[in-house]
Amino acid sequence: MTNNRPDILTQQAIEADGAHMWHHLTQHQPLDGKAPLMVVEGKGMRVWDASGREHLDAVSGAVWTVNVGYGRESIAKAVYDQLIKMNYFANSAGNVPGGLFAERLIEKMPGLSRVYYSNSGSEANEKGYKLVRQLAALKNDGKKHKILYRDRDYHGTTITALSSTGQLQRKDQYGPFTPGFVEVPHCMAYRSPNGDDPDFGVQAACEIEKVILREDPDTVGSIILEPITAGGGVIPPPEGYFETVQEICAKYGVLLHIDEVVCGMGRTGKWFGYQHYGVKPDIVTMAKGVASGYAAISVTATTEALFNEFLHAPAEKMNYFRDISTFGGCAGGPAAALENLRIIEEENLLQNVTNMGEYFMGRFAELQDKYPVIGDVRGVGLFMGLELVKDRKSKEPVDESVTAGVVADCMQQGVIIGRTNRSFETFNNTLCFSPALICTKDDADQIVEAVDNALAKVVL
Ligand code: PLP
Repeated sequence: MTNNRPDILTQQAIEADGAHMWHHLTQHQPLDGKAPLMVVEGKGMRVWDASGREHLDAVSGAVWTVNVGYGRESIAKAVYDQLIKMNYFANSAGNVPGGLFAERLIEKMPGLSRVYYSNSGSEANEKGYKLVRQLAALKNDGKKHKILYRDRDYHGTTITALSSTGQLQRKDQYGPFTPGFVEVPHCMAYRSPNGDDPDFGVQAACEIEKVILREDPDTVGSIILEPITAGGGVIPPPEGYFETVQEICAKYGVLLHIDEVVCGMGRTGKWFGYQHYGVKPDIVTMAKGVASGYAAISVTATTEALFNEFLHAPAEKMNYFRDISTFGGCAGGPAAALENLRIIEEENLLQNVTNMGEYFMGRFAELQDKYPVIGDVRGVGLFMGLELVKDRKSKEPVDESVTAGVVADCMQQGVIIGRTNRSFETFNNTLCFSPALICTKDDADQIVEAVDNALAKVVL
């Protein structure tokens, strides 16, 4: 972008936007018929708005998505070539990038072997739930149909994905919800009375066992967990948590469904978040980073054992997975995903994530020494949060105006950061960072300096 004036088409789009668009997760009133930020161009870690202003994006497209950064011509070309050759045929048939991406993906996920394509994280999770429900129907007349989810986790926007979401702010006013979903407690050490106990991780996992026993293990089919909770406050699990969850799942025949929609494809320095914790999931779902936002694609990956349950069930029980998603896996999506994966590998981005994650954590620790308002610094790889509190002892969350003020001030400085959502509960107070996996030290310094300046103005 070279000049400050939007071209005629962009100007027309801004006016049309104000008049006709209904934006996602955006308060209507403050816009009052005006368009919000309109982004028109992106390259690497940076985007430019309609006035030509440059922004450093520390949240990869607002919602943890553009893992390999903006402006990747090779991904655009892969999609173009695929669309010109063969744009669409329902995924009941195969297509070339669909098969090739499935193979490359499965190489990264030992223990899993089957890939089911759809279009969004919510949809991928719903496929996981449908598999569990149908498996229950095939095996024991539907008895083992309940699905557990965790307080603070988010699994998507549809009514059933919300039914499995532990965030009241997202759910309020959208009930009644789908039956058969049961909440288990969160595992956030910082906000648990026994969070300092070295056994806290095991204790938090044992809370899940209590729920399984209360519900009757014969009725519980699966549990869905984010490996590191994202929108609920950027919460890495405590030590020992997932190992114990795995044991509990094995004990009661409960399938372990890991939602990698945010953590998947390298965000935490491994291909998948769960790979930090040595667990072997039965179902893994992913979306955002799968094609870094260059095309809409999501995946529900499963074990061969789960696939075989359907393969070997009697045909009179309608034993195949009776699900279709018109656009799922067709065909630009897997083409983009294949090239996205190649870039992550070839540019050694997992290593960069680990290095830069450590660098950020050091810089954030310096900020924590300087600002008592930073109660907790959390994160894994390039997935980080700063929880802001009025007082470190009481841990009372800051008012929403504080996190909103810091985000707005960073925006003024040309740096886009995020924050967790307002809620009736206490998790409206975490600043979020998830820059692209290509982030450099200079980018990190610019982000941390913006937060430093903003905190100096907003809280000192
Ligand atoms: N799961 C997690 C952990 C998410 O953070 C999200 C979206 O933010 C979803 C699922 C839903 O994904 P989508 O918005 O693509 O439906």
